Amino acid sequence: MRLLRAVCTAVPRGTRTCSGGTHNEVRLRFAPSPTGFLHLGGLRTALYNYLFAKKHGGSFILRLEDTDRSRLVPGAAEGIEDMLEWAGIPPDESPRRGGPFGPYEQSKRLNLYHEATQTLLESGAAYHCFCTPQRLELLKKEALRNRETPRYDNRCRHLSSAQIQEKLSKNVPFVVRFQLVEGAHSFKDLLFGCIHHDVASIEGDPVILKGDGFPTYHLANVVDDHKMAVSHVLRGEEWLVSTSKHLLLFRALGWQPPSYAHLPLLLNKDGSKLSKRQGDIFIQHYAKSGYLPETLLDIISNCGSGFLGNQMGRTLPELIEQYDLERVGTHSALIDLNYLPEYNRIHLSKRIDNLDSRAELVTKLQTLLQDKYKDMTFNKDYIEKTLILRKGHLCMLTDLLSPDYSYLWVRPSIHLKDLHSLSSEAAEIGSLVVGILQKSQNDTNVETLNKDLKVHLQQLKATKYSVSMKILRRILSGLEAGPSVAEMMVALGPQESIARIHNALSS
Ligand code: GLU
Repeated sequence: MRLLRAVCTAVPRGTRTCSGGTHNEVRLRFAPSPTGFLHLGGLRTALYNYLFAKKHGGSFILRLEDTDRSRLVPGAAEGIEDMLEWAGIPPDESPRRGGPFGPYEQSKRLNLYHEATQTLLESGAAYHCFCTPQRLELLKKEALRNRETPRYDNRCRHLSSAQIQEKLSKNVPFVVRFQLVEGAHSFKDLLFGCIHHDVASIEGDPVILKGDGFPTYHLANVVDDHKMAVSHVLRGEEWLVSTSKHLLLFRALGWQPPSYAHLPLLLNKDGSKLSKRQGDIFIQHYAKSGYLPETLLDIISNCGSGFLGNQMGRTLPELIEQYDLERVGTHSALIDLNYLPEYNRIHLSKRIDNLDSRAELVTKLQTLLQDKYKDMTFNKDYIEKTLILRKGHLCMLTDLLSPDYSYLWVRPSIHLKDLHSLSSEAAEIGSLVVGILQKSQNDTNVETLNKDLKVHLQQLKATKYSVSMKILRRILSGLEAGPSVAEMMVALGPQESIARIHNALSS
C-alpha cells in the first residue's frame, strides 16, 4: 500500500445537499456486509460510530452492504441487527426499523446505483468493459510472473462509441469501470492526518457495476453515503487505502464527501489478528455464555483509546460522555480477552446494585434455577438476598448454578455417621451451633456469627476449631471447601441452617 502522509487542507464541510434535502446533521453509519456474524471488531466499529452520533446529538444508521451475493451468510443480516440491539446500541435507522433514507439494504437500492452509473457513463467518467474473465486471468498471471501487482490495463477505456454500441447490440457481457484520473487530492483523515494516495498510478480502473447488475462496494458505498446524508464515516483502517478512490467518485458525481476517520485494528494482545475462525469472537457466543452487553462495550473501548484514560467499569452513558474521537490513536488496539470475566464481575455488581436491573437478574436466575432443579420452587426474596451477598464474588450469574453453589438451592444429604470419622463430638458441635443460631437474629452478619462460633467452639476439648468448621461446612453444604461457615449460614439464614443441622444429626 503506498499511502503518503501529506500536507493538505481538510475536506470542506458545511451544508451538504443530497437527494433527501439539505442536511447539517451528524449522521453516522455502520455498514457491515452480512457475510458473517457480528464479531468484536465489528462491534467496536459500530460502538465508535454510535458514540460519535450520540455525543453530537446525531443519528446512528445500520446499512447492510449485501451486494456480494455469493458470500451472503443466511441469518447474518438479522443476527447483526439483533446483536446491536442486544449490546444496547440500537440503530436509529436500519433495515428493521426503517427510516427516511431507506431501504437500508443495498440489494434493494439497485436503481440508485444504476442511476449513478448512468451519470458517470454519460460524463465519460465510467466506461463499459467487455474483457473476458480469461483475458483478466491472463493479465493477472503475467503480472505475477513479472513479480508485479496485478492490475487491469484499462484497455476498454479506449473503445470507440461505435465499438461499444456494436458489442452492446450483440449482447456481449460487460461490466462498468470507473476511470481513475491522475492527481487524486490529498485528504485529511480525522485520525491519520493528511493522506496522499495517487490511486490512478497504482491500480487499474475498478469495476463499479458487475455483470449481474449489482454494484461493487466502492460505488454502492459512495452512492449511499451521499444519499443517506452521512456526515462522518468511521470505519476500519483497512479501508483507508480505498478512500482516495471514493473521493474521486464523489468528485466525478459532483457530490460533497463526508469526513473520514479510519479506526485502527482490534488485535489480540500478542498482536495477532482476531480471527473469525477463533469462533469465540462472535458477539452471539458471548451473549449465549452469559456475558453482559456492557462488559463487551467496556472491554472493547478500553483497549485502544478515545477516552480520557483506561478505566474498567464504564457504562454506556459514561462512554458517551467521555468519548472524544481526537483521543483515538493510530496504533492498533490490543485486547486481552482473559480479562473478560473480571469486566463482567464489575458490571454484574453494578447491575446487582441497581434495583431495576437486580429485579431482572432475580427473575432470570429464578428461571435458570427452575430449569436446573425441575420440581423445586425458588423464592424471589431468597434469590435477591443471595445475589446481594455474593456480589463481587460472581463473574457470571450462572456461577450460582455451579456445583460449588448448589448448597444454596438444595439440601445436601449428610449423615451423622459420615461425620464421626472427623470427630466423636459431631453431635455436640451441632447442638452448640443450633443454640447460637437460635439466639441470633435473622439479620445477623458474618462477623458476629464468626465471633460467636469461635467463642463457643474453641472451648471443645476433643475437637480442634478447624475440624469443627469442616464438620459444619459438610453439614451445611456437603462441600470440603468453599465459603466460610459463617458466610454459608448468613446466606442460608438461621432457620435453614438449623434445619440442615437437625437433619444431619437425626439421620
Ligand atoms: N461493507 C464494508 C465492511 O464490511 C464497509 C466498509 C465501510 O464502512 O465503508 O467493512
